[in-house]
Amino acid sequence: MTIHAASFNELKLDRLSREFGTLNALKEVNLTIRQGEFIALLGPSGCGKSTTLNILAGLLPATGGGIWLDDKRIDQLRPEERGFGMVFQNYALFPHMSVEDNVGFGLLMRGMSKAERKKRVDEAITMVRLNGHGHKLPGQLSGGQQQRVAIARAIVVEPPLVLMDEPLSNLDAKLRLEMRAEIRRIHNMLGATTIYVTHDQEEALSLADRIVVLKDGVVRQVGAPDELFANPNYLDVAEFMGFRN
Ligand code: ADP
Ligand code: MG
Repeated sequence: MTIHAASFNELKLDRLSREFGTLNALKEVNLTIRQGEFIALLGPSGCGKSTTLNILAGLLPATGGGIWLDDKRIDQLRPEERGFGMVFQNYALFPHMSVEDNVGFGLLMRGMSKAERKKRVDEAITMVRLNGHGHKLPGQLSGGQQQRVAIARAIVVEPPLVLMDEPLSNLDAKLRLEMRAEIRRIHNMLGATTIYVTHDQEEALSLADRIVVLKDGVVRQVGAPDELFANPNYLDVAEFMGFRN
């Protein structure tokens, strides 16, 4: 395999905060993520999930705290300097570019030779099982296939971190289940550290190595799915995980 996951030991969010005017959307979030983990960032709408992800990606500045990749502080770096892979709910593909060109775009920006690019793009397309669709335009693909393209585009640059923001929420229930399994399969194959934002408890429980429960910008609990399910720390976590007592 030519595509690998870039390596590091730890990603650390240190008292990460974000204010919007008088609203504290994120309140001193501390979190340490180890290389290769699949983390679900779980919580109800408005709890600060996208804010966290956008700060990690470099699309939104924090108003307090920092982000560390091992001993390197990265929260002042521009998005392209961080080199993280992003997958959004609306796919965000270039509509006028073929699947191959969409997937290879980041490699082109990095100045990779055409031959090397082709090899990597072919491999990423195979990884997401889109063989034979490389010359199509995104508009000629189903929603699930478009999300596969977005995943291929995210992993082809060998990012240290893959960030996914509710990537399946625009798909129907059947495709959602199919793509959930696909995302985990690709993660197992590549081992790329992943932070996956969702408001869907079942999705978090079935996908993640560890779940981070956010509420009103505060981390309420962090744990493996079985720990969280068996031992919720707070009533609101318990309720959110599906208990009703
Ligand atoms: P989630 O992704 O968990 O649904 P967000 O991170 O998008 O939540 O939002 C967290 C809170 O911050 C919400 O109350 C939201 O209204 C607010 N918020 C997010 N972005 C902005 C913004 N650009 N300006 C003002 N408020 C914002
Ligand atoms: Mg959101």
